[in-house]
Amino acid sequence: MARVYNFSAGPAVLPEEVLKEAAEEMMDYNGSGMSVMEMSHRSKVYEEIINTAEADLRELMNIPSNYKVLFLQGGASLQFAMIPMNLMKNKVADYIVTGQFSKKAYQEAKIYGKANVIASSEDKTFSYIPDCSDLPISDDADYVYICENNTIFGTKFWELPNTKGKTLVADVSSCFLSEPVDVSKYGIIYGGAQKNIGPAGVVIVIIREDLITEDTLPGTPTMMKYKIQVENESMYNTPPAYGIYICGKVFKWLKAMGGLEVMKQKNKEKAAVLYDYLDSSELFKATAVKKDRSMMNVTFVTGTDELDSKFVKEAKAAGFENLKGHRSVGGMRASIYNAMPKEGIEALVAFMKKFEAENK
Ligand SMILES: *Cc1c(COP(=O)(O)O)cnc(C)c1O
Repeated sequence: MARVYNFSAGPAVLPEEVLKEAAEEMMDYNGSGMSVMEMSHRSKVYEEIINTAEADLRELMNIPSNYKVLFLQGGASLQFAMIPMNLMKNKVADYIVTGQFSKKAYQEAKIYGKANVIASSEDKTFSYIPDCSDLPISDDADYVYICENNTIFGTKFWELPNTKGKTLVADVSSCFLSEPVDVSKYGIIYGGAQKNIGPAGVVIVIIREDLITEDTLPGTPTMMKYKIQVENESMYNTPPAYGIYICGKVFKWLKAMGGLEVMKQKNKEKAAVLYDYLDSSELFKATAVKKDRSMMNVTFVTGTDELDSKFVKEAKAAGFENLKGHRSVGGMRASIYNAMPKEGIEALVAFMKKFEAENK
């Protein structure tokens, strides 16, 4: 068995311990005589799996009791529609556009009501986070929307925007469980699992109770009503059962690692290994503004497309996979999620130093 260092942005690296456990349980989960993939989602044994997953997530994130946790399908992208359909009572929402995913969310919201871009960093290829301390928040805004960590551009909100009392909605797909968060500052905090948590097919939504109402936009499909999903405990229909089981294992792994405070420390140290080298290198250059840099997605370039592709190709041959930047921006991106060991980043930096010496 040869595992590579996988720097994919998502679906992405998972903890080896989790994969091994899942393999061991593949034929017979806990004496049930079947795989989790084969069992009824309404069985006692599965009920235990999903309930434990939720309890562990609540403990890890310290989720207050007036928030519900949902395990849904449709990816983060379906939430781009589900959020306005459920929250746009006044049909007004303010969007802070800091990358491709918040832009898509904004464009989707425009289908349902008046969506305003109140700040954007598109003028500089989304390489920074705008000052959000005093934005023109609409008086009748139903919510203010951000994408907290910008997977493609490698930036992160290190301070939440001042929403002037309006409900904050955040897409945290690529920074979910990378550090402690104060859930009470958000109305909705959600993300696709395939970046930092588990397999594709699960999106986790944490939503404050007062936002769960009957009053959705006309035409909202039943499946897309938070109230229906809450009443049915994520089981209005068959949930992404196997994916939730793997997410549950990752929650256990995070607890065993010491929780999110410990993960933040580790992630900081890991990111520093790469950024420190990038800042000292004469060949490679980090593309995100220093104060807004993501701990999870590190974007960088050499300065020429030719050297970029040479680097990606040689890195792949040396066992460093998926370092090519997003197709929309080019360059390189190393996604260094929770499950990427520090040794992986140290090995990458050693390889980059060698490449730099050979390509002076
Ligand atoms: C990947 C990603 C998405 C899109 O996720 P899907 O599950 O493919 O819909 C949205 N937001 C962010 C921040 C992402 O990283």
